Amino acid sequence: MAKQIVILGAGYAGLLCALEARKRLSGIDAQITLVNKHTYHQLITQLHETAAGARSDRSIRISIQNVIRDKNIEFKKGIVQQIVPADKNVVLDDGTTLPYDYLVVALGSEAEYFGITGLKDHAFILKSVNQARLIRAHIESCFARYPYEKKSELLRFVVGGAGFSGIELVGELADALPNYAKDAGVDMSLVELYNVEAAPGILPGFDEELVQRARTSLEERGVKFMTGMPIVEVAPGVVHLKNGQSIATQTVVWTGGVRGNQLVINAGFETEPRGRAKVNEFLQSTNYSDVYILGDCSFVLGNEGRPFPPTAQLAWQMGSAAGKYLYHDIKGGTKVPFNANIMGSLASLGRKDAVGKVLQSYKMYGKMAYVAKEASQIRYLAKIGAMFAAR
Ligand code: NAD
Repeated sequence: MAKQIVILGAGYAGLLCALEARKRLSGIDAQITLVNKHTYHQLITQLHETAAGARSDRSIRISIQNVIRDKNIEFKKGIVQQIVPADKNVVLDDGTTLPYDYLVVALGSEAEYFGITGLKDHAFILKSVNQARLIRAHIESCFARYPYEKKSELLRFVVGGAGFSGIELVGELADALPNYAKDAGVDMSLVELYNVEAAPGILPGFDEELVQRARTSLEERGVKFMTGMPIVEVAPGVVHLKNGQSIATQTVVWTGGVRGNQLVINAGFETEPRGRAKVNEFLQSTNYSDVYILGDCSFVLGNEGRPFPPTAQLAWQMGSAAGKYLYHDIKGGTKVPFNANIMGSLASLGRKDAVGKVLQSYKMYGKMAYVAKEASQIRYLAKIGAMFAAR
């Protein structure tokens, strides 16, 4: 009888896992069910562009049906309520129970709020297309309201966190805000864009020369960095910093970190303190070998014993690898331990600039780095057969 493979999450890891497994396994070998909250796959590496208004939300939503058409993968729209590994099943929000022989958990990460007062209630986060749309609409409304209300906090924008997510968003906003101001007839000299970071510098841990280039590029476009300055509280209209200073603002976007998906903790999978599941060299949960846990909700150690940062590149590779492991589980043969091949990391700094390191140590910046980042996106779309699916 065909084995039941249930894949939770049609993000980068889940979708690639489904495609890879189906490429290798016939319908007689396995029935593959892909579960996702929305009917579309989200290009979350581009969310900052949509939040700033530089890219339409349609262009970063890809119909899952279009990607899996004719591939004998069953799609189920639903929100996972509970994973019950002891009973080998998953419960969805409509009450459906999906039994499985093999489960793939690829539900992504959640924002990490570190218990900061008011942050969850009064800051935007950038984890989905809908949140990006909300941010863009909010920015537009701030500019539309300003001519009538004349409140300076409407024109003050704060991004909390200067990791890759924060810097990419700040770069996009630095390019977009002058256009919003122009369209609204607002004097751009009244607009302020802050990036507040707890660590002593931006992009903590990244190459110092590239950090300096990023900082200069963004400062030249008006970004005000406040580093070594943890946010300690957010209330309506104001952000409070550890040194007692505060910033009056109607817009706070929190990019201060991520943690594993709560469902993974609730299911009883062995996790590390930030809620990411521990997995073995074959990406299986350390306490349930019939469960693969991929992408941002898992914790994978590299050869040097350090965890890989949760990136799209890692999720892509984990998805493809798990698809092959499922084939071996069902058809036999030897599994090759997972070994991520991270080509580098590139952070965009708006429409024309980026910084990054590729092939271990080759440093890139400027337009060339920007184009390299775009190219990786195009390669991904080609891989899932969706070059023209994004509208
Ligand atoms: P992160 O954890 O990498 O960065 C969060 C930043 O917020 C840190 O610099 C931290 O010091 C800061 N911070 C934490 N608490 C704070 C506080 N109270 N006040 C002010 N600042 C505070 O998170 P991220 O940027 O969302 O990235 C998550 C992962 O995704 C990382 O592994 C990153 O490399 C990856 N990523 C990669 C890309 C890319 O490759 N282009 C883009 C985005 C994210």
